[in-house]
Amino acid sequence: MKSEIIFNCPKCGSSHIISVDDEVDLTTDKSLLTKILDDSYFSHECSECKQHSIVEFPLIVKDDKFNYLYKLNPTNELMFLLKDNETREIRVVSSINELKEKIRIKYFRLNDHVVECIKKLIKEDLEKNNDVRIEEIYFVKYEENRLQFVLFDKDNYLGMMYYSEEGYINLYKKIRESIDKDLQVVNLKTINYLI
Ligand SMILES: [Zn+2]
Repeated sequence: MKSEIIFNCPKCGSSHIISVDDEVDLTTDKSLLTKILDDSYFSHECSECKQHSIVEFPLIVKDDKFNYLYKLNPTNELMFLLKDNETREIRVVSSINELKEKIRIKYFRLNDHVVECIKKLIKEDLEKNNDVRIEEIYFVKYEENRLQFVLFDKDNYLGMMYYSEEGYINLYKKIRESIDKDLQVVNLKTINYLI
């Protein structure tokens, strides 16, 4: 299914109606995964000035092999999805960056509650010891026995931070009994574990 949305070009100001997917299934189409992760899936070329812009729109991304269904909900109209007979992991996110992060966490076979705990620890530690305010922090990848995160303040890229695999495992052991599996919005604002 497709929906029509209004695209307002940030460069020339013209408006166009464009057609976007309601849902994409990555179970069989892995090329879509690459396009989502590198933003090209969300890139739209203005028919007037040819400028490329990233367009955010409501979208369901699912992969039956990895058993998830993620809903990008930029307008925050619907915060939760119905879960009748649903065994998949459901998440509702409000930005493309959050969607990409959830997908990366899933394909690296990590737990997003634990990843959010690590982000919280990194953010609190940096803000306590430095004159800095972390506005955005995202998990990027997991390799060489460590998890990699990218950090931004209000306007700028601040840098990368790393967290050990051992630390991840210890945190997982600490919170696993209290993980709320029905929570669909899992982010720094919604997690509340004693860590
Ligand atoms: Zn334009």
